[in-house]
Amino acid sequence: MDFTLPESALAVQRGIADICARYDLDYWQRCETEKRWPEEVWAELAKGGWLGLAVPEEYGGGGQGLLELAVATETLSASGSAGGSAFTYVLTPGFGALTLARHGSPRQRGELLPKLATGELETCFALTEPDAGSNALGISTFARRDGEEFVVKGQKVWITGVQRATWMLLVTRTIPAAEAKPRSNGLTVLLVNVPEAVAAGRLTFQPIPKMGANTTPSNTVFIDELRVPAANVVGEVDQGARVLWDILNPERILLAASALGGAEVALRVAVQYAKEREVFGRPIGANQAIAFPLAQVKAKIELARLMLYKAAWLFDRQRPCGTEANIAKLTASQAAWEAADHAFQTYGGMAYSLEYPVARLLADARIGRVAPVTEELLLNHLATQVLGLPRSF
Ligand SMILES: Cc1cc2nc3c(=O)[nH]c(=O)nc-3n(C[C@H](O)[C@H](O)[C@H](O)COP(=O)(O)OP(=O)(O)OC[C@H]3O[C@@H](n4cnc5c(N)ncnc54)[C@H](O)[C@@H]3O)c2cc1C
Repeated sequence: MDFTLPESALAVQRGIADICARYDLDYWQRCETEKRWPEEVWAELAKGGWLGLAVPEEYGGGGQGLLELAVATETLSASGSAGGSAFTYVLTPGFGALTLARHGSPRQRGELLPKLATGELETCFALTEPDAGSNALGISTFARRDGEEFVVKGQKVWITGVQRATWMLLVTRTIPAAEAKPRSNGLTVLLVNVPEAVAAGRLTFQPIPKMGANTTPSNTVFIDELRVPAANVVGEVDQGARVLWDILNPERILLAASALGGAEVALRVAVQYAKEREVFGRPIGANQAIAFPLAQVKAKIELARLMLYKAAWLFDRQRPCGTEANIAKLTASQAAWEAADHAFQTYGGMAYSLEYPVARLLADARIGRVAPVTEELLLNHLATQVLGLPRSF
């Protein structure tokens, strides 16, 4: 068994790290405080061709898979952006490019993938609703067929990146949840042109004030009698679950990668501070109460990374990867939280000052334990699907 990353992934690591070396922790802190998209990094990622990493070569992309995308996300996050800002990278290169490369019609692939590869177009993903988060199959946003169009009505919440997206991957019901057998039947994924829908007054959105991850706004979205051409269905009508699993598994893997990067940066700053800060005439890192939790975090990071790369490797081979994606997401998010929490303790009172990066890292790390899927739902999957225990719901 060979655990070395392939040269393709190592090249991604070097390329992204080269760009990120020009942007320090203060840069990311400023983006967060000013609530602004990291335009400078984004422009460099686009120029270097990194936004099209997973777009097939025939459409002008890098032709790489989820493993390389995960390595790119982890490297970006570990450079200092941490999970909150690395999410920017998941929205288009992840949701848009990966999904359309695998499930887009020839026309969708031909028209959109080349522009996603250059960054000319961006995407967002809209699944969650006020009454359907963990219970994703319970969504009620409905797409009614009317000739060669669908007419959509519903509400979404937490939809991140709507402001910049030209296209939204909108998950709708074409059979109401109560009538669908099995419940995963009757879902349809639509490509919605956001600026056109906004201009027609059929889609409006409202940013949600957030405790962190403010480089990328999240929104409540209202959709009212929006007409979408039937040609904009991704995959098949009523069979959207197949597309959805191929969005949700990569999402878990990429957000595990971004959480892992967040854990790495938190551990790095904590270790540095523990070496430099002297109390009672010696570095605080000499105290095992400070050192052991950081050592434990290091072990958890290494373990989570193994599962992350395995899950991505499986996805790239079109093999079942749900359980591995879930374990990667669970363990990476927990590592990120523990890293940020122990970094906080290591910094003492200074952690509370926004002049240091720890408060931002802590707020970022907390997201991973509830989104895009909560820890409890991941554990439910492992308990029922893997261990065969009875379902609680
Ligand atoms: C910053 C951020 C960005 C996001 N971006 C997007 C996006 O771009 N697109 C999108 O579609 N969504 C997005 N989301 C939404 C996210 O996917 C949901 O918040 C998440 O799926 C959880 O759903 P919920 O918030 O409705 O929690 P709920 O489903 O209401 O759960 C509340 C609590 O109850 C627990 N719970 C529920 N059922 C059970 C059970 N059976 N057993 C044990 N515990 C249970 C949950 O684990 C959780 O702790 C984002 C969320 C955040 C915070």
